[in-house]
Amino acid sequence: MVPPRPTAAPATPPVPPPASPPAPAAPPRPPAAPEAPRPAPVRPQHPPHPAPVRPAAPAARPPVRGEDPAGAEEPIGAVQPAKPVARRPVVRPVEADEAAEGPPCPACGTPNLPGRRFCRRCAAPLRPEERPAPLPWWRTVWPFRRRVRVRSGRALRRVLMVLAVVGLLFAGFLFLPAGRVLFEDVRDKLGGTAEISPTGVTASGAAPGHPARAAVDGLTNKYWGAPALGASLTCTFGTPFRLVGVVLHTGASKEPEEFRQEPRPTRADLIVTTADGTVHEQELTLNDKPGQQTVRTGISDVVSVRLVLREAAGQGGGRPIAVGEVEFFKRT
Ligand SMILES: [Zn+2]
Repeated sequence: MVPPRPTAAPATPPVPPPASPPAPAAPPRPPAAPEAPRPAPVRPQHPPHPAPVRPAAPAARPPVRGEDPAGAEEPIGAVQPAKPVARRPVVRPVEADEAAEGPPCPACGTPNLPGRRFCRRCAAPLRPEERPAPLPWWRTVWPFRRRVRVRSGRALRRVLMVLAVVGLLFAGFLFLPAGRVLFEDVRDKLGGTAEISPTGVTASGAAPGHPARAAVDGLTNKYWGAPALGASLTCTFGTPFRLVGVVLHTGASKEPEEFRQEPRPTRADLIVTTADGTVHEQELTLNDKPGQQTVRTGISDVVSVRLVLREAAGQGGGRPIAVGEVEFFKRT
């Protein structure tokens, strides 16, 4: 406000002279209503700035300047138009203070506003750490290869990862002996079985007329006659196979009367040898009655099975211990 005043003061001096003439010329003017608009166009040339000046020049000027109310009441005479004064540029204070309080530009050092992301001078990025981080190696492999938005497909990828981990754990579990046994056991239960005949049968001893071959001939009324406890029957197989179970028929016959006439084993050891030489030994407790008895084994890569008689019922008189039939079942 202070600066305009000294400049406006020189503009006013030429105005007072016309101020005096209007007074005498006033009488003819009143009827001229159309003249009233004239002061209006003049006024825009001297916008608000003269206002502060007016108080400095007392009573003489107000009528001349012709404010709306004054112009309407006071008569106005002919006035030579004043030389138009060019409007002075108005200096306004800057609204937003570009006080640079942010970090200086890493490229040119120009301070920038805190909120800026790029330098206002050289346009270099002010926060280089906003650059996306390099992808981890697994993001370069197929299902995860695409560079996607942060949350896009995250659930799917997570599920795939969990499945992969579970699959790896399961595969690793199968490499453990216990895991392998469980897996094969399940397969035994789910799969079918078939009888497999041994390629060779030998016995540590046999009663006359009751050879070892009689135990695997498929007939339960012909039996292997073991001379004494401790005798063994050995069956060998040409190709290793998964031995799921063994079916035993003890005694001389399926008929109860004939069954009781001959000694029959009640306890035995089942010794299974696999292709790599591992020996699995299993103790069998057998029922002293005719019919088949099933023994579950579940051993892989079996090449030979040996049955050793440990206890028997009905012994006496030197008669042989009867083993009617031994059947082997493989997984199909
Ligand atoms: Zn910069």
